[in-house]
Amino acid sequence: MIPNCIALLITLSFCAAAQAQILGFTPASAAHQLEIETKFKSIPSPDEERRQHRVFTQEPHTAGSKRNNELANYIADEWKKQGLEDIVIHRYDVYGTNPKSAKLEMIAPTHYEALLREGPLPGDDDSKNPAISGAWLGMSVSGEVTAPVIYAHSGNPEDYDLLRNNGISVKGKIVLVRYSNPYSYRGFKALTAQREGAAAMLVYSDPQEDGFKKGKVDPDGPWGPEYHVQRGAITYDFMVPGDPQTPGWASVPGAKRIPIEEAVSAPKIMALPISWHDAKPFLENMDGPAAPKDWQGALGFEYHLGSDRLKAHLKIDMDNGVQPYYVVEGRVPGSELPDEWVVTGNHRDAWVFGGVDPSSGTASMMELTRALGELKKQGIRPRRTLVVCSWDGEEIGLTGSTEWGEQFAEELRTKAVAYINVDEATSGPNFHGQAVASLAPMLEQATRSLHDPSGKTLYEAWKEVVEREKKEGPQSSQFSSSGVASDALADTRIGSGSDHTVFLNFIGIPVLGLGFEGNYGVYHSAYDDFYWMNHFGDPGYKYHTLTTQLWGVTALRLANADLLPFDFATYAANVRQFVNDLAANNKSVIQSGGGAVAKNPTTARTTHGESGANPDGLDLRSLHQAIEDFESAGKKLNSALTNKLASGQLDPQLAATLNHGLMQVERNWLSPDGIPGRPWFKHILYGARYTYAHLELPGLTEAVEKQDWPTAKQQAAILERALHNNTQLLRDLNQRLEAQ
Ligand SMILES: [Zn+2]
Repeated sequence: MIPNCIALLITLSFCAAAQAQILGFTPASAAHQLEIETKFKSIPSPDEERRQHRVFTQEPHTAGSKRNNELANYIADEWKKQGLEDIVIHRYDVYGTNPKSAKLEMIAPTHYEALLREGPLPGDDDSKNPAISGAWLGMSVSGEVTAPVIYAHSGNPEDYDLLRNNGISVKGKIVLVRYSNPYSYRGFKALTAQREGAAAMLVYSDPQEDGFKKGKVDPDGPWGPEYHVQRGAITYDFMVPGDPQTPGWASVPGAKRIPIEEAVSAPKIMALPISWHDAKPFLENMDGPAAPKDWQGALGFEYHLGSDRLKAHLKIDMDNGVQPYYVVEGRVPGSELPDEWVVTGNHRDAWVFGGVDPSSGTASMMELTRALGELKKQGIRPRRTLVVCSWDGEEIGLTGSTEWGEQFAEELRTKAVAYINVDEATSGPNFHGQAVASLAPMLEQATRSLHDPSGKTLYEAWKEVVEREKKEGPQSSQFSSSGVASDALADTRIGSGSDHTVFLNFIGIPVLGLGFEGNYGVYHSAYDDFYWMNHFGDPGYKYHTLTTQLWGVTALRLANADLLPFDFATYAANVRQFVNDLAANNKSVIQSGGGAVAKNPTTARTTHGESGANPDGLDLRSLHQAIEDFESAGKKLNSALTNKLASGQLDPQLAATLNHGLMQVERNWLSPDGIPGRPWFKHILYGARYTYAHLELPGLTEAVEKQDWPTAKQQAAILERALHNNTQLLRDLNQRLEAQ
């Protein structure tokens, strides 16, 4: 009996192998791919992840610093040893933003001088490092002011409305705002304060959001301690990312530069981050009206809005000389299709040590490249070229990736298949995967072939995270999870805030974003370090290792696929969801789809009806029809491609034609003029709000929210045209398949 059982098992496992299906692969290629993946997955090790993590977290390494530049050389040397080729260190000369000095003191009603430093934590030797910077925000202007301090909650526009309703103006004053949950980008808070005429902005971390109110604080737990300061940049990179003086072109040495006064992304306001320890004396001594309930925090006394009684003196001195940033690039040239690129990257620069952000990602990247090098030594090369980049200055304004993308935009437009971004690889055990909708199914499928430390498949673990977040709301993420199908896991709503931006929004390259999240209260502070990672974030470096494995599996599937694994039926369903959400959020002015509602748009709103030629409101029915056409072309193509792959007979010439067409779809979502008011951002499906929050159908949505109907109609027409073009493209590809 026993031998028979074994024989049966062998037969079954052979059957399983024979039926192995990977999106984009013929059965024979899939079996080969699984062998490659098994070899790849066995290479990354927790010990090596930890060793690399220690190299990167040894010293502070902000953008442009000597240490960060040394790390660029270190990466280039390691990649050489690992077997990567064509290693280049690209130099970009960018507008520099470095702190010289800062001073903040309360001068009335009592005196208090802010520490603006974080101080050592027991047990964490790195926290004693004298190279740790004081409190500063990238892109603050230099200046000096003595003025009253007003508490403006999260510093969003509605907060200033409330102050106005209480008779409080912030003109010429210093506003004290707090980091907020849900996340709102501090650059948006700075722009809002600037627009309100404030002289300066102080931003602090209330323990309600990331400190003792959430749980144990560092060094006893993962949350932010009393003295932690959340640094960060306030660049208006939601207008245009990268070097503010070279909007839309690369800051290669000698490039033309516009005066900083003309740069739309350069803030014109002084700004400084402070710990709650430094914020407390200010909040405690404020008078004026009591702040509303949802403006209160966890400091144990009632917060007030302030008056002219409390005065502070603030002086900030910055160094803004032009300085070089360095992007390291390395490749594993493709064996069969060297001119098709799978690009991937992680930023190197950190606010201080960068335990999570970004050195967890950097360590994972170094293991990715080591494993790719090992495969190469075994004679296993990807079919397409893998391009790996270590970005600089992400924290300042997505600068390195933006300049590199702008420099190579033409080439990337022709050659790039996809971009995979890993920023923070690990701050805890909860997987978060982002994908443009066409790549969501391939990402989900890839997670089925991996196991999380509990032994579950990563897919199962991810599903539990998504289900939990649906119930409770996301725990610490700045992104919201949402899918179209009820079992969809990938977050297909992609905002800004990391290095994928230039690829998706400027060049039209499909993107993936990978990382694990958890309770993380030390973001951008000196305490985001090796100690924190080893005690709270990922003590065994298992999630670092898993990130490397998933990173490699997704990169190798994209690099080796016979036919690129894009699913445009899923894309269509997502676009429909985006349009439905827009309609649901603007019910009174939009005709919903499917022809079910037939109200005359002219009767929907009549307040602005002075000219009958341009009726208010928007009719989305023809847009829905265009989505339906795109979806049915996508479904038809999906099944034709699946059949073709299943047949195992794929002519290389036909594959080349199909892949070229499949790559073109994402490019077709770009509008050359960009979204209204923000021409650098060209993608018409994906954008970001000024807060960095995702914003679907950005041009159309912003026009609808402003009730600017001529622009809304024009944006709807642009979207409809892009849908038609892509439908036609898919139909053409279908015909080529049928002709075979
Ligand atoms: Zn980061």
